[in-house]
Amino acid sequence: MKRLKIILITAMLFFILFGLYLAKNGKKEYSQSEFVLDTACSVTFYGKDAKEAAGRVFDEVRRIEGLMSMYKKDSDISRINRAKAGDKVKVSGDTYKVIKAALEICQRSGGAFDITVAPVTRLWNFTGENPKIPSKEEISKALISVGYENIVLDENNTVIKKNSSLEIDLGGVAKGYAGDRAKEIAKKYNLTGGIIDLGGNIVCFGTNPHSENGRWTVGIQLPFSPSGTYRKTVEVKEGSVVTSGNYQRYFEENGRLYHHIINPYDGYPSEQNYDSVTIVTDSAMTGDCLATAAYVLGEEKGSELAKEYNGKIYYEKN
Ligand code: AMP
Ligand code: MG
Repeated sequence: MKRLKIILITAMLFFILFGLYLAKNGKKEYSQSEFVLDTACSVTFYGKDAKEAAGRVFDEVRRIEGLMSMYKKDSDISRINRAKAGDKVKVSGDTYKVIKAALEICQRSGGAFDITVAPVTRLWNFTGENPKIPSKEEISKALISVGYENIVLDENNTVIKKNSSLEIDLGGVAKGYAGDRAKEIAKKYNLTGGIIDLGGNIVCFGTNPHSENGRWTVGIQLPFSPSGTYRKTVEVKEGSVVTSGNYQRYFEENGRLYHHIINPYDGYPSEQNYDSVTIVTDSAMTGDCLATAAYVLGEEKGSELAKEYNGKIYYEKN
């Protein structure tokens, strides 16, 4: 009888410990940060395989950077940028998809968003170490090559340029695409939830174990304030919160601020009376294009465009 009691107690203890182990691993939290896509990226995942998922997600983000960066000489984008008018440039399915989606917003924004702004962004060099104010002549010359309508999307993932000097910069959309892909991959790992931050492009899915309703609260960064300073927050279940802001890349000269969101009509940083635009949408890729577009378009037209894509929009000023 005494032996049976011991066996029963041992079995009970075993099941309690096993239950605790499962509960703990179900909620297992893992965070990882890396500098990719020219920006600080981090993920926090919940679930038994959170660490493995994070590793795979960063592999994917690096792969996308390798395809879409205009600063990596073997990327799809660099191959397009070096091509001559009429050359058929075969690219990956990813790059083709991103260019196609971006071109739609180039059109719908009337060119406020224009991925062929590369010759101008190259001059300003915001992603490099020494950004500088280009001369008026340099800007006028670079603007001649700008015009998204000179990109032709051919069959079989082939891109053709109508003029040789045309160059593409996917800086305004690639982080969003990477965010969507990151979520897709993470979801294959049976996580209970997760949050991905690719330089201000936030993507959430599943349940937030730290909130009562399971939703994610994402703060809208207060421009020119320490990271994590918020005045507004948005609550999302699953989706993306993407911010484009002048404070994300800028320099000051002679008391003036020059930032990286370029008005493709004149080649200078878009002058506005706000500092950032945040878009809440399902797809981070769409949100990324829209945020950059809406920054250049201004509050009225930007809000109209966001509405066309069922996006919520927030303009913020320091
Ligand atoms: P984001 O980081 O999404 O706000 O986009 C800004 C980045 O997109 C810049 O660093 C440039 O690489 C590129 N860019 C700047 N101005 C534009 C524009 N008007 N349309 C498309 N891309 C742009
Ligand atoms: Mg963008």
